[in-house]
Amino acid sequence: MEREESGSLGSLREFNRDRVVQTLRMLGVASRADVARRTGLSRSTVSSIVAELQAEGLIVDRDSDGRPATGGGRPPALIALDPSAGLAIGIDFGKRHLAVAIADLSHEILGEAWGEMPNDYEAAVGIERAAELVEQVIADSGAPRDRILGVGIGLPGPVHSSGTVGSSAILPGWAGTKAAERITERLGLQAWLRNDANLGALSEATWGSGRGCSTVVYLKLATGIGAGIMIDGELFGGAGGTAGEIGHTSLDETGEICRCGSRGCLETYAGGAAIAALLSRSVGRELDIEDVLQRASAGDPACRRALAEAGRHIGVAVANLCNLVNPERIVVGGSMGYAGDLLLDPLKESVKLRAIPSAVEDVEVVLADLGERAELLGAIALVLHEAGPAWSGRAPAMEKAATADTEP
Ligand SMILES: [Zn+2]
Repeated sequence: MEREESGSLGSLREFNRDRVVQTLRMLGVASRADVARRTGLSRSTVSSIVAELQAEGLIVDRDSDGRPATGGGRPPALIALDPSAGLAIGIDFGKRHLAVAIADLSHEILGEAWGEMPNDYEAAVGIERAAELVEQVIADSGAPRDRILGVGIGLPGPVHSSGTVGSSAILPGWAGTKAAERITERLGLQAWLRNDANLGALSEATWGSGRGCSTVVYLKLATGIGAGIMIDGELFGGAGGTAGEIGHTSLDETGEICRCGSRGCLETYAGGAAIAALLSRSVGRELDIEDVLQRASAGDPACRRALAEAGRHIGVAVANLCNLVNPERIVVGGSMGYAGDLLLDPLKESVKLRAIPSAVEDVEVVLADLGERAELLGAIALVLHEAGPAWSGRAPAMEKAATADTEP
């Protein structure tokens, strides 16, 4: 909705420019119509703001394949922020891996590096190794450091809104760490931290299966079960930042005691660790969830049954979530997503049986698109999302000086 009547016209214009720039940051390469749809501004307002920003060199033309426009032939239909106006760095801490990438404002990845990590590595070890990898991708990509807007960080554990990492079964040595502050101290760059499921939601909504939806739930099904919830295009963290703990939805109040202290949580039925433990008993040797997925794809009936039953249990919790949040799309990711329809079909069936009919009509359940890069790309999307309202896309260090003369 456009509200031209409120506020001074100058500040409204500036506000709308901010929205156009912020939207382009999230969309990367887009048409003017995409921008109008996402901002709710009229096509003519968007066109005039885009023309203004193009004249200032902040927006550039792109060909229909997203590459820089060559100038010949038909007029280019797509636009992007000038890639050189800012860079974003993402860091993804996994159970046994570490990944780092750098991207420009048109969402092009300029460099990426992956490394293996030992089991249960401590926060200090992870942060030091991440800082080394960041320095390496900056150097290899030739990116000017003063153009870096900041660093997005993801890790598999609860992240409180204070920035402190909570106790995590996957990275136990990180509880109490303020990981973003430590990265800022080490690299001299602003940093933001979210848990892996939140970053999955952000990346799938930006580039993957949730693209084009404003209310999306990303399910991360792996050793544990978590969800990232986006409402109206914004990550929903709740009061303390821990929203989305769908794995601890109680399915049976007299069920098995869960690691969280409650009973009968979804994770005790359908978490990767629970499934693997169940099958380890029947197979007679220690399996992990990757072994179960492999055996299932080779046709092992016990593994196939366990994954299908997990899908049905997960569907119960998802149905409850649909009743509460009414999402447009549920994106199923994490390693268990590789089970495909084997898990997805019973999950969908369960949602259909248990959610109220209107919630079922509204929601689509789909597999995630970005695989193991979901969290890393989400960390980059986090920077594009959080790095201040500065319309120029200039590096934070330059923002203060720039605000005085932003008025055209
Ligand atoms: Zn629990």
